[in-house]
Amino acid sequence: MNKISNSLAISDQAHSIHPYTNMRAHERDGPMIITHGKGVHVYDSEGREYIEGLGGLWSVAVGFSEPRLREAAMRQMDALPYYHSFAHKAHEPSIKLAEKLAHMSPGDLNRVFFTNSGSEANDTVVKMVWFMNNALGRPEKKKFLARLKGYHGITVAAGSLTGLPANHKDFDLPAIPVTHLTCPHHWKNGQGESEAEFTARLLKETEDTILAEGPETIAAFIGEPVMGAGGVITPPEGYWPGIAALCKKYDILLVADEVINGFGRLGTTFGCQRYDFTPDIMVVSKQLTSSYMPLAAIMVSEQVYDAIADNTEKLGTFGHGYTASGHPVATAVALENLAIIEERDLIGNAARMGELMQTQLKALEGNPIVGEVRGVGLIAGIEVGKKDTAEAIGPMGVLAKSVYMNAQEEGLICRNVYDTVALCPPLIVTEDDITQMVERLTRAFDRTA
Ligand code: PLP
Repeated sequence: MNKISNSLAISDQAHSIHPYTNMRAHERDGPMIITHGKGVHVYDSEGREYIEGLGGLWSVAVGFSEPRLREAAMRQMDALPYYHSFAHKAHEPSIKLAEKLAHMSPGDLNRVFFTNSGSEANDTVVKMVWFMNNALGRPEKKKFLARLKGYHGITVAAGSLTGLPANHKDFDLPAIPVTHLTCPHHWKNGQGESEAEFTARLLKETEDTILAEGPETIAAFIGEPVMGAGGVITPPEGYWPGIAALCKKYDILLVADEVINGFGRLGTTFGCQRYDFTPDIMVVSKQLTSSYMPLAAIMVSEQVYDAIADNTEKLGTFGHGYTASGHPVATAVALENLAIIEERDLIGNAARMGELMQTQLKALEGNPIVGEVRGVGLIAGIEVGKKDTAEAIGPMGVLAKSVYMNAQEEGLICRNVYDTVALCPPLIVTEDDITQMVERLTRAFDRTA
C-alpha cells in the first residue's frame, strides 16, 4: 500500500464508523479506498481497476465520470448553492424537477415531495399516509403490509417496513404496525407449485391477512416491483396486478418503492410499468441523480394529495420537511441526469443490454454451487444453493461472500446479500462490458465451487 493510502487507511480505521460493516473486522482489515471512476469502472488507491457491477449501490445510471452532471452542479452552485422549500419558498430546479417527474410517471402521480434519501422518503410515506387517514376521520387505518426480504431503508419507520432480520435484530424494530407477508420468490418459497399456483397462494395469504386484521385497520401495502437488496427477487406472473386489485377492493393504498427499479433499471421507465400496475404512491431515488447528489422523491396521486392538502388548510401547515428537501444542486443534477437518460436512450440500452446480460448469466446455472439465476433488465441475482431443492449450501451467506471476494480479485465489484450474488451495473454498459463482467463473475464462481 502506498504511503498516502496507508495513512488514510489508518485514519479510517481509527475514526470512521462505516454503514453495514462489521466494525471490529474493519479495525483489523481496513478499507478499500476508491479514488476515481471512469465510465463503468472505478479504481482503488492501489491503482487496481474494477468494473462496478453494482453501479455503486444499485444507483449509478450514467457511469462514474459524467461531465454534464458535474457542470450542472457547478452552474447551480454559482447561481444558488442552497435554498429551502419551507413555507412557500421555491427555486427553479426543484420546480422543474417536480414537473418533469409528474410528466414521466404513470397515472396521476402529479404531486412530488423531495427528501434526501430513500429511507427518509419511506418514513415520509408512512407519515403522509397516517396524516391522511387521520384527516379522513379513520385513525384506526394505520397498519402497513410489506414483504419478507423487502428493503425500504433503515430509519425507524422505513426500517420497520424492511423485511430483513439484520435490520431489525437489536434495533427494536419493527416499531410501527407492519405485517410482513411471504416473499414472492417462486424458486425458494414455491411448494412444488406452478408459478400461477404460487401467485394464487400469495394473493390468498394477502387477502386472508387483510380480512383477519380488518381492512379498516390497514392503510397501505408497500413493495418493490423487483426486490433489490433482499436478493433480486422477480415476482411471479400475475402477482402485481393481483395485489393492486386487492388494494383497490379493500381501500388500501398501494406504494411502489422504486428506489432501485426507477428510471430504466428493468428496461422500462418504472418497475410498475414492467409489471402492469399503477400505484397510489411511488418512491424514487438512486438513479434519479445517478447518486451524484443525495435526493429522493415521493410522488402521490391527486386523491392522496387532496386529502393531505385539505388537512394542511385546516391545521395551517404540513408539519413535515427537511432542511435540504428539494436541494437546488441535487435537483439540478437530477434534471441533467434525466435528460441524459432520455437523450442517450439509456432505458432502451438497459432493455437490450439486460437481455444480453441475463442470457450470458444463465450459463452460470452449470456451476455446481449455483441454484438459480434470475433477473430482468439490468439487475440480476445468482443464488448459491441446491438446484433441485432450493436448499442453502453451507452456512447462510458464506459461499456468496466468497464469490464476492473472488469477484473483487478478478476485477468485478458485485454484492452478496445473504445467499445471493447481485449485479446491477450502470445503464451505460456496452456489450463488451457485459461480456467482461460475466467472464469475471464466472471465474469467481469457478474459484469458489
Ligand atoms: N428503498 C429501496 C428499494 C432501496 O433499495 C433502498 C436502498 O437501497 C432504500 C429504500 C433506502 O434508501 P437510502 O439508502 O437512500 O436511505
